[in-house]
Amino acid sequence: MPTTTADSIAAHTKYEPVIGLEVHVQLLTATKIFCSCSTRFGAPPNSNVCPVCLGMPGALPVLNKKVVEFATRAAMALQCRINETSIFARKNYFYPDLPKGYQISQYDKPLAEFGYIEIPAAKTAAGNQELRTENRELRTAKKIGITRVHLEEDAGKSLHEGFPDSDEKTAIDLNRTGVPLIEIVSEPDIASPDEAYEYLTRLKEIILYTGVSDCNMEEGSLRCDANVSVRPRGRKEFGTKAEIKNVNSFRFIREALEYEIERQIGVLEAGGKITQETRLYNANEGKTYSMRSKEQAHDYRYFPEPDLLPLVVDETWKAEIARSLPELPEARRARMVKDYGITEYDAQVLTFSKSLADQFEEAAKAAKNPKRVANLVQSELMGRLKAKGVEIEHSPISMKGVAASADLVEAGTISGKMLKELYDLSFERGKDFPVVYEEEGRPQQSTDTSALEKMIDEVLAANPKQLEQYRAGKTTMLGFFVGQVMKASKGQASPQIVNELLAKKLS
Ligand SMILES: [Zn+2]
Repeated sequence: MPTTTADSIAAHTKYEPVIGLEVHVQLLTATKIFCSCSTRFGAPPNSNVCPVCLGMPGALPVLNKKVVEFATRAAMALQCRINETSIFARKNYFYPDLPKGYQISQYDKPLAEFGYIEIPAAKTAAGNQELRTENRELRTAKKIGITRVHLEEDAGKSLHEGFPDSDEKTAIDLNRTGVPLIEIVSEPDIASPDEAYEYLTRLKEIILYTGVSDCNMEEGSLRCDANVSVRPRGRKEFGTKAEIKNVNSFRFIREALEYEIERQIGVLEAGGKITQETRLYNANEGKTYSMRSKEQAHDYRYFPEPDLLPLVVDETWKAEIARSLPELPEARRARMVKDYGITEYDAQVLTFSKSLADQFEEAAKAAKNPKRVANLVQSELMGRLKAKGVEIEHSPISMKGVAASADLVEAGTISGKMLKELYDLSFERGKDFPVVYEEEGRPQQSTDTSALEKMIDEVLAANPKQLEQYRAGKTTMLGFFVGQVMKASKGQASPQIVNELLAKKLS
């Protein structure tokens, strides 16, 4: 390992990391990929099983049509080309949680290929351009290629703890055996741990939008393995890679990659060699550990699955699935920027989830002035959320609440200042805007002209010098008087009416 910061920086300029990610996503079908067993999470161990998923001799797999539809929809959302014919293959290996002795997957003819995900362009080497910036300008995008998206079945789960005899025995739960997965394999286009994090965030967002998975990492619906190597900057050939397996959060993947890059550079700098191997990440220690030497593809003796026909997704079916695709996050952001005059950053925040974006658009469309809703979200809501460290999904003021407040301002019922105060109260009380507005007795800005005229008289009397200046032709003093009257009304007066009354009085 480099010992000083200067050494470390020098080593980092000398090497560049090459990262590829393999993401497994569980599809949200009610039943498994090749049998009618339930896929429900949390069922008692070994209760969702049958001869097919247990791998009993003679039991034959029957492909679940919904699985193909979901996988195709996801692949389309990832900009892949769908292969009209794809082939299931047996991946042979022995493992206690795999009773068949093989996993049905796809190998040289996968369902889909040649896709990509766009991520914001990386930090520069100097690190002066923060990736997760709130920079409100357009950022250039980088395309990360997707090599393939293929279908496969999940294996069971070994339970090493939680039983009285866990210190001696390992239990097996086969409920997950045969649960449908897609594996999304990226090209080695990812050049830093930050880019890996960004890629995964976009990938999850896109999959969530398609509705084919809940991408719940705790329940194993989204799992990621990372291949990482380093090579001298400028060299074409890849270095020897290590695979980091089963990391259960995007943040940990970033940390694991940071550690692993550092480790590999250290080995090479010390004159050593990287061994191709599978490594596990220990999040508590922030280190990766060697688990086993990495298998090569030929170790699995792949061959076409004799019990399943080639999978055909013809043009008609493809077109049907394409019609079920929702507007995807990137396209939606671009449209929202255009439709509501909001910044790219705001669009980013507002499309954090599909439901939030739907809520916003529903509110914006229902409001008298959609742009005002967008402006209030930017100017009044985001700032308060940020100050309190609250995610927008947990905002006390809902999008409907923002729309209601926008309408009140639009109609001149409340002033901007009153809105700010009501928003503060909403955050203090943890209640939505319409509730607080009711609680406060539906406040209105003052349009009582006789009271206002009295205030104006008082303000003019209290500021004779300014009045003299105004009369001498310094018309900009009008703003000063408006300000004073607004102050006297504690922000309750309508600035428009104050302006009118003042102009009349002074003429
Ligand atoms: Zn089954």
